[in-house]
Amino acid sequence: MFKKILIANRGEIALRVLRACRELGIASVAVHSTADADAMHVRLADESVCIGPPLARDSYLNMPAIISAALITGAEAIHPGYGFLSENAAFAEMVEAHNLVFIGPTAQHIRMMGDKITAKTTMAELGVPLVPGSPGELASLDEAREVAERIMYPVLIKAAAGGGGRGMKVARAADELEAAWREARAEAGAAFGNNAVYMEKYLDKPRHIELQILADNHGEVVHIGERDCSLQRRHQKVLEEAGSPVISPEQRDALGKTVTTALKKIGYRNAGTLEFLYQDGQFAFIEMNTRLQVEHPVSEAISGIDLVREQIRIAAGQPLGYTQDDVVLSGHAIECRITAEDPETFAPSPGRVEVFHPPGGLGVRVDSALYAGYRVPPHYDSLIAKLITYGKTREEAIARMKRALHEFVISGIKTTIPLHQRILEAPDFVAGDYTIHWLERFVAG
Ligand code: ADP
Repeated sequence: MFKKILIANRGEIALRVLRACRELGIASVAVHSTADADAMHVRLADESVCIGPPLARDSYLNMPAIISAALITGAEAIHPGYGFLSENAAFAEMVEAHNLVFIGPTAQHIRMMGDKITAKTTMAELGVPLVPGSPGELASLDEAREVAERIMYPVLIKAAAGGGGRGMKVARAADELEAAWREARAEAGAAFGNNAVYMEKYLDKPRHIELQILADNHGEVVHIGERDCSLQRRHQKVLEEAGSPVISPEQRDALGKTVTTALKKIGYRNAGTLEFLYQDGQFAFIEMNTRLQVEHPVSEAISGIDLVREQIRIAAGQPLGYTQDDVVLSGHAIECRITAEDPETFAPSPGRVEVFHPPGGLGVRVDSALYAGYRVPPHYDSLIAKLITYGKTREEAIARMKRALHEFVISGIKTTIPLHQRILEAPDFVAGDYTIHWLERFVAG
């Protein structure tokens, strides 16, 4: 097992990884920008190294500075968390070239899944069902027209290098296609330096269902059940549940078999998530994320499996030590992503936190790097806390979430706690009756 791990991230996820390290008896090294000198992950780590100025591209994305920090402190492995360098194949290669271990999949698998067109063709060859669409990159507007006529409007133009919901444009009819094509390509080029796009049928009432998997370096692959992440705003997840209120154990088993068989065939390793759209009883693969996800705690809650601990053990070469039959899922978990934003206009609200009082009690987990007196910097993601509740049933998890949201006090900045309280009261949510389009209408109305 490793003796020391460097955590190449900040905020709640840096704390999350740090906690797993401490429980495994592994020393931790925090890295931070000058804006984060007072951050909780720096305070709690065994050592810390400043890696640059506030802008992420000068610090948390500064690969040479991060590798140097690992070498200077004698860390043996690097955990990238999510975001930043977590899905950067060149970084994974650079880490390995310096005889350090990248806690994640191989650079080859990161690259394969990072290009969504390659990811889709690979999965299709492995028997995983896809959303109908273009066979690959769209070479021209003419080709886009042909594919759209074949699969029928509405269609979605998506960036091959996409992420964070960017580079995605809907064309509801033929007269909208040219604008969608132009805008998606421009946005993709600006955001990812790659303007390759492809097309999918735009589904009108799908749910976003994703499957968590773990794979060791010895050929064992298990899934940890599904998460329902349909509650989204601007293609970004707001609230997640495990399991999904609409997926049966039989559907889960069948999807799990297809996915674990496919990943065994390509020799995938470490943690990963396959994302699907689910409509009319059918799953259709949209993308794979080759990292830990923000919403992983809901899967931990229903399985009792510490996913970060497993990532570290796998990276150290240890076998999982269990099979699919040993993965027992029970109860229900919900996560609310609380951001430093106005709950109605979603305007960012960085600044000084006056009071921070997290909820507690049975079945409540708070993953947050906030503390009273902390100043939320304006430079990074607005996520400030994840509130996760667990119950034997969905009803119990909902009741607990309402109770926990009621107890939660974060003052000095605006947060989305009131939005989550409204969602939890909505009859559609309580009934589990929502699609990926539901929240957008709910916040508009
Ligand atoms: P990103 O990597 O940018 O997050 P995804 O491919 O994961 O992009 O899609 C993000 C979200 O966009 C999905 O969760 C879903 O809500 C919506 N979406 C993606 N593809 C489709 C589609 N074909 N039809 C309808 N909605 C879609």
